[in-house]
Amino acid sequence: MPAADLLLPDATGIARAAALLRAGQLVALPSETVYGLAADATQDAAVAGIYTAKGRPEFNPLIVHLPDLASAMAIADFSGPALALARAFWPGPMTLVLPLKPGHGLSPRVTAGLSTVAIRLPAHPVMQAVLRATGRPLAAPSANPSGQISATTAEHVRAGLGHRIAAILDGGPTMVGVESTILAPSDTGTRLLREGGLPREAIEPVTGPLIADTTPGARIEAPGQLASHYAPQTPLHLGGAPRQGEIVIGFGANTPGDLTLSASGDLTEAANRLFATLHAADALAQARHAPAIRIADIPDTGLGRAINDRLRRAAAPRD
Ligand code: AMP
Ligand code: MG
Repeated sequence: MPAADLLLPDATGIARAAALLRAGQLVALPSETVYGLAADATQDAAVAGIYTAKGRPEFNPLIVHLPDLASAMAIADFSGPALALARAFWPGPMTLVLPLKPGHGLSPRVTAGLSTVAIRLPAHPVMQAVLRATGRPLAAPSANPSGQISATTAEHVRAGLGHRIAAILDGGPTMVGVESTILAPSDTGTRLLREGGLPREAIEPVTGPLIADTTPGARIEAPGQLASHYAPQTPLHLGGAPRQGEIVIGFGANTPGDLTLSASGDLTEAANRLFATLHAADALAQARHAPAIRIADIPDTGLGRAINDRLRRAAAPRD
């Protein structure tokens, strides 16, 4: 396939992205979390193309992105705490897993045959403009080859998928930097399926205590939960004393490192820089023939929980 077209986030680029998506092509789009690899969620062949381009296992369902609550309510059943969550946190980095409504019109590949669907209203103005211009729900997982480091810039997308997709819409670096928090609300309580850009501390005042459900590899209902994911080429170790020749990623003033997630120890900055820093550390390790990358301990509060979730999977043994 020829190299992907690079589109600007102006009226022309947005119209072109929408036309390609309606024609069943794959387009990488900026969102506030990470770049998404989008396809029209109503077209079976287009959705199949996402799995092929990413090398993603077919049992791993996709998140459907919509422009507004009305279109979300046409597809899924919002009962129990779902509506309160939607009103509190959309648009934003939160995905809700909800029962599908009859006549939803989505390709069954989007949900991997489940009777539930994962839905999100993104806050990024460029992604919102493309959603409106396309007039279709967009399935969009992270725009990286399956299992590898997520993309937070158009250049990351180009390096990973540049010859497998039609276009990349460059909206600059993403703002949040980690994927959405995935919740499954129900009358009996709200389960946390994946830590992400919306911290638990913000959610619990709305839902009450969340039910933890994020054990790596525990259940395929939340396959952002595959044990090895977000992995650099170079082995990654978490915490502990650096060994000879390792590339060190620091955090805070006490651990400066070769690279740092945040020199001042700020978790919002660290989440924002996480994937770009992993990409950069991997490149540095390869240039220096380093045996491994080692990353400083990150506090397990707020966005630190999503960071640690990604790091555990990035460091997990690979098949
Ligand atoms: P990704 O787009 O790669 O960040 O992954 C999206 C994640 O959403 C999947 O890995 C699942 O964990 C989750 N997901 C999507 N659809 C469903 C669903 N119907 N039920 C539970 N989880 C889902
Ligand atoms: Mg992903």
